[in-house]
Amino acid sequence: MTGADAVNGGSATGTGAGDSTADQPVGPARITVDLGAISDNVAALRERVGSTPVLAVVKGDAYGHGLVPSARAALAGGATWLGTAQIAESLALRAAGISAQEARVIAWLYAPGAPFAQAVEAGIDLGVAAPWALADIAAVGARLGRPARIHLKVDTGLARNGAFGRGVDELVEAAARAQDAGHVRVVGMMSHFARADEPGDPSIRAQQDRFEECCELADRAGLDLEVRHLANSAATLLDPSARYDLVRPGLAIYGLSPVPQVGAPADFGLRPAMRVSVDVSLVKDLPGGQGVSYGHTYTTAGDTRVALLPMGYADGLPRAGSSRVPVSLGDRRFIISGRVCMDQVVLDVGDLQVSPGDEAVLFGDALRGEPTAQEWADVTDTIPYEIVTRMSGRLPRVYVGGRE
Ligand SMILES: *Cc1c(COP(=O)(O)O)cnc(C)c1O
Repeated sequence: MTGADAVNGGSATGTGAGDSTADQPVGPARITVDLGAISDNVAALRERVGSTPVLAVVKGDAYGHGLVPSARAALAGGATWLGTAQIAESLALRAAGISAQEARVIAWLYAPGAPFAQAVEAGIDLGVAAPWALADIAAVGARLGRPARIHLKVDTGLARNGAFGRGVDELVEAAARAQDAGHVRVVGMMSHFARADEPGDPSIRAQQDRFEECCELADRAGLDLEVRHLANSAATLLDPSARYDLVRPGLAIYGLSPVPQVGAPADFGLRPAMRVSVDVSLVKDLPGGQGVSYGHTYTTAGDTRVALLPMGYADGLPRAGSSRVPVSLGDRRFIISGRVCMDQVVLDVGDLQVSPGDEAVLFGDALRGEPTAQEWADVTDTIPYEIVTRMSGRLPRVYVGGRE
């Protein structure tokens, strides 16, 4: 692990990151997160959207990159808002010392019994999609004598979270009453695209039209919205008309492309922040015709050498990647040989000179000749979002390239 600035022992939320934990025992595999890449990616997105402010989405432990260090890197790159799905993650940002002056923070997904009072006291904005949530949050605002800052979350066609149809009228009316009572301050209107990653799909314009109707409803109810926001990474990259007052990219800030059919990360001025690597633990020669790993689903073609990589599905490697996913070792590229096991995989490296301790790269940056999260996603029938987010909390995150 050369060039490591800090190692996080890999807590599930990553909130301890940035601690100096160099004496903490670490396993043979690691995630190296280039914080400079996150800052640069946010800066590249900011340049693209001109004066529109950027909300960096850091849900899912910052898509597996580690919540707090990634959030700080996004702020260093010029983001002024941070967003998480869960309230606990927003609270963790505040607990780590990211103040209300440094960043507006918003959470938008929760169930009854959520820590609304803690959120309001910590200066966290809340997305509100349902009358029950508005009532509970307004009650907290009344009790604290401090209006809760809310963003009305409307379903403009995704049919997932958000108020839908007549439900929007009802939510707007109830929010206006709660604001008049001084229990909430309605600061925003938000919605989310279903198919922004399919440029030209008619649902994109239809969702924007419906979003604009919802904003007009709010205007007519006397709500003076500060921020209307709709754009995810794909819309931020491709659709200037979807920017409104704030863009909400997630995947792109980690240097991955939400629209691989349109462009690779580098085509958008982005570079991947996550590199996953593992040290070879064993090297041995095998004869031809030898079945390899559970089920013998791979058989050596002739006399060969195999390297054992001590990383498996307990670390987040998809078992569906058995005999499919690429790995680079010693400037060459191989496909994992046979089954991905819980803690290890085997690599048939032919005549490659390799020694225990050599570092194999599972995915990283195409510009360095490494396999990519996109390639992993393609061969396992998923999306790069899932590949990076599923990497296990037991892998240490090694942070490099941070700006002070
Ligand atoms: C995850 C999420 C985003 C970011 O989506 P990307 O495709 O990663 O850019 C934006 N808004 C909401 C509401 C989300 O849940």
